[in-house]
Amino acid sequence: MPEPGTFAVPVHSSISGQVTDIKDITLPNGVSCKAVWISSDRKRTYHTSVYPRSNIGVSASEFMGIVKAAGIVGMGGEGIPTIAKINRARREGVKEILVNCLQSEPYAGGDFIRIQDTADYVIMGAVALAGAVGVKRIKFLISDARKAEVEALQLSMQRTAGEYSGYSFDFVFFKERFPQGYYRLIAKAMYHVNLEVGETIEEKCHAVIFNCSTVYACWEAVADNMPLISRIITVTDENNRSHNVWAPVGTPVSELLDTVNGISVTNNQIIWGNCLTGLPLADPDNTPIIKTTSGITVVRKTQVREFPCIHCGSCYEACPMELDPGYLFALLKKGSNYQAEDERALKCISCGACSYICPSGLNLTSVIASYASAKRNTNLYAYAATERIDYNSDTLMDAGTDSRVEPEKYYDNSMVLPFLGGKRV
Ligand code: SF4
Ligand code: SF4
Repeated sequence: MPEPGTFAVPVHSSISGQVTDIKDITLPNGVSCKAVWISSDRKRTYHTSVYPRSNIGVSASEFMGIVKAAGIVGMGGEGIPTIAKINRARREGVKEILVNCLQSEPYAGGDFIRIQDTADYVIMGAVALAGAVGVKRIKFLISDARKAEVEALQLSMQRTAGEYSGYSFDFVFFKERFPQGYYRLIAKAMYHVNLEVGETIEEKCHAVIFNCSTVYACWEAVADNMPLISRIITVTDENNRSHNVWAPVGTPVSELLDTVNGISVTNNQIIWGNCLTGLPLADPDNTPIIKTTSGITVVRKTQVREFPCIHCGSCYEACPMELDPGYLFALLKKGSNYQAEDERALKCISCGACSYICPSGLNLTSVIASYASAKRNTNLYAYAATERIDYNSDTLMDAGTDSRVEPEKYYDNSMVLPFLGGKRV
């Protein structure tokens, strides 16, 4: 367990205005916490501490102080305080840092926007993190279908080359396979290491992973003295109406939905997150986005009928953790919890692939992920869903976005994540 206080981060107001209330809320993942209600003055006035830093040549210890004060956490979903990750990486003597540009879901686009619009911040943030960790090797993990983003990063490396010296950059290309980007899968694909529950990639692979948007936020904290108070959210519905919104942390989901023309919530289910790993939410007016929310998804509300397992094996093939979700589901349903743990149920990463793929409509993820989460004593991924969600799989998974290219035409040596993913096989 971490030392008390090491997993805490400062809280900053993301808008200017008046505090009107402080009360308890429960998020769709089951986490209860205090929330501060702020009535916006619609002026977006920044605190006087937010200004462009004149000397960006900060030392490693200064950088770590800035990251800590800025309240930066892993924005890919884990939410681990970045300062805690840096400290762990230093303790374990890692040899390289990995910048995770593998958006885990087919529709999420926030990291790509960061790269396209502000690649210099991503590169400078990566260099600063490498300096803080004490390594010179930086690897960008990215889908081999992301030619535009790779070129944006390459151009930025050329542009910023005069700002630092001695650092090496590499790209590691992956075939798209959703959900992707989980550190356990990366550990297996890149280092051939199976991480057990409680083991870290820093300890076992001598590498540390930072999400692309987190890396951006680190440099924003240095260059602009800006704490982590906003992020890019991808708002999507199943008719491919999609929109990236730069939103203050704490924005109610209903306000984000209002930004997409034609999106309708009537008779639809709103998902707090993305199509594979998101959670259903009931009250969009009183549910905020948080630092780890990368998307809001609207899907058709359908009552999915559950049928008995037909032992087709699809969930086993789809599971990135090489679990047998159908078997685990059956064990947990009949209360054979210890047996389920023997079958490695606690390794479930709540990715949603098994529920997504199951032709019998079984709500596998909810049962397995909830159990695993509760036993691992982390509520971060607790599944509050009681009903399986129909994601209209064919349209969601087959959709592409503008800057994708046919991967075969671009790179030949891409890595393949060690599972079949949530795509129908
Ligand atoms: S949610 Fe399902 S597919 Fe994903 S890790 Fe857990 S058991 Fe495997
Ligand atoms: S995918 Fe569904 S039907 Fe097929 S083996 Fe798994 S639980 Fe059974």
